[in-house]
Amino acid sequence: MPEPASKPVAPSRRKAGRHRGEGQWAAGHFTPLNPNEQFKKDDDGLNVRTRIETVYSKRGFQSIDPQDLRGRMRWWGLYTQRKPGIDGGKTAILAPEELDDEYFMLRVRIDGGRLTTQQLRVIGEISQEFARGTADVTDRQNVQYHWIRIEDVPEIWRRLEAVGLSTTEACGDTPRVVVGSPVAGIAADEIIDGTPAIEEIHRRVVGNKAYSNLPRKFKTAVSGSPLLDVAHEINDVAFVGVRHPELGPGFDVWVGGGLSTNPKIGVRLGAWVPADEVADVHEGIVGLFRDYGYRRLRTRARIKFLVADWGPEKFRQVLEDEYLLRRMADGPAPEAPVHHWRDHVGVHRQRDGRYYVGFAPRVGRVDGTTLAKIADLAEAHGSQRVRTTVQQKMIILDVPEDRVTALAEGLAALDLAVEPSAFRRGTMACTGIEFCKLAIVETKGRGSWLIDELERRLPGFDEPVTININGCPNSCARIQVADIGLKGQLVTDDAGNQVEGYQVHLGGSLGLEPGFGRKVRGLKVTAAGLADYVERVLRAYQEQREPGERFAQ
Ligand code: SF4
Repeated sequence: MPEPASKPVAPSRRKAGRHRGEGQWAAGHFTPLNPNEQFKKDDDGLNVRTRIETVYSKRGFQSIDPQDLRGRMRWWGLYTQRKPGIDGGKTAILAPEELDDEYFMLRVRIDGGRLTTQQLRVIGEISQEFARGTADVTDRQNVQYHWIRIEDVPEIWRRLEAVGLSTTEACGDTPRVVVGSPVAGIAADEIIDGTPAIEEIHRRVVGNKAYSNLPRKFKTAVSGSPLLDVAHEINDVAFVGVRHPELGPGFDVWVGGGLSTNPKIGVRLGAWVPADEVADVHEGIVGLFRDYGYRRLRTRARIKFLVADWGPEKFRQVLEDEYLLRRMADGPAPEAPVHHWRDHVGVHRQRDGRYYVGFAPRVGRVDGTTLAKIADLAEAHGSQRVRTTVQQKMIILDVPEDRVTALAEGLAALDLAVEPSAFRRGTMACTGIEFCKLAIVETKGRGSWLIDELERRLPGFDEPVTININGCPNSCARIQVADIGLKGQLVTDDAGNQVEGYQVHLGGSLGLEPGFGRKVRGLKVTAAGLADYVERVLRAYQEQREPGERFAQ
């Protein structure tokens, strides 16, 4: 039997799995059971880079092998974008090649959301030169370009890599960007700094062919902030800062979170890990997922399905017995976050006496010119460090006290509010129909419009509220854990026409008591009626709430 392109390297002992029909490598199932497993076996996704550099970028879009185009190019952060003008009703009907534009989305991975002003400026320059000015800050701290031509990709890589950035495994069945607390190492209230762990995880697994053929995408989060600021509950693996009563600060390990069409909150393994062992445990879990993860059906391939079948006790046992070859210490759960907002927006004092200044672009939408101006502003006010957040926000670090006001004014002039309305602060949106081939409805523009409408209609509203807008059921914008989650779909309006609209989910949340919003039975709103609906919900909440009650309670 031929071996897969990326061979499993550990463990040496193999046991037949309980789910022989799930296509687990650990149970000896190396024969590909679906087209994705086949193309991954045919050639490692990382190998496509050479073909992009030597063939596709020179001969153009038409020269690209279809398996590379719709498969392996993701290993380098490239997706074809949606052909303009195709409405959402055709998304599920058309073949992939009919939806494909000849331009790409290109995702730059920004582990921990950590950027220097020099890196931010380069990102901005690439946006202006090669991406028609596009540059969206995503809810995983990345930046995404659109309108990228295959001919320009090698030059974009050269410029990114010259300043220490990359698109390596930004997409695909790989260890994706490691999200991290954007105020790691500087926050006055930090439990433990996760930065060295993120750097070591990146060094070990990113671009490593031992881990470049996973059953599906694999999302990691590391944060030592008491604000629980990385949405750890919905990552495949997360390391959350805790203080062990005897062993001191370290990380609590969570596995098996994820949203999309079958959402699950991660579970604790009950294990405490010191900072310098986080990368060992992470590598063990990635290896376990590679070997035991389900490869038969793409819809059951995320690690959350394995965790749900095994339970945390068995998962920890296999991890310790077969990958770590030692026991982990037992440890406590994280404490409840003290603030509802966990986005770091506003002006905050750092532990060194300087300040960090968090600000809110609208639904993560910025552009290359604005990013370059943010870099200029930061440097003009004494900073050389910028961060992105998992709420599609940004932060400038290390600002001396006497420069804070001028910086905030400079940001406001760029429409980047340091003291935004609750709506601008709390609204997120995925890419949507403008560029995404899976989308059914518009998201970014509508999110921006909704912010304007709510600011006008409810000018005094200052309660924390999260409004997350998705263009399809895939939940890239985390609709199930928002106070008001809006899942894009076609709905029927009063005149009986099929129009863009949203299924409403209410009352989702993250934190120590995370839960999914409930679908309000049959409640779908048309896009045209969206602002009216949200206004009604928020007014009813204002009028009927008990003292101290928050929207999500
Ligand atoms: Fe695309 Fe759907 Fe994800 Fe939005 S939620 S970016 S429409 S796949």
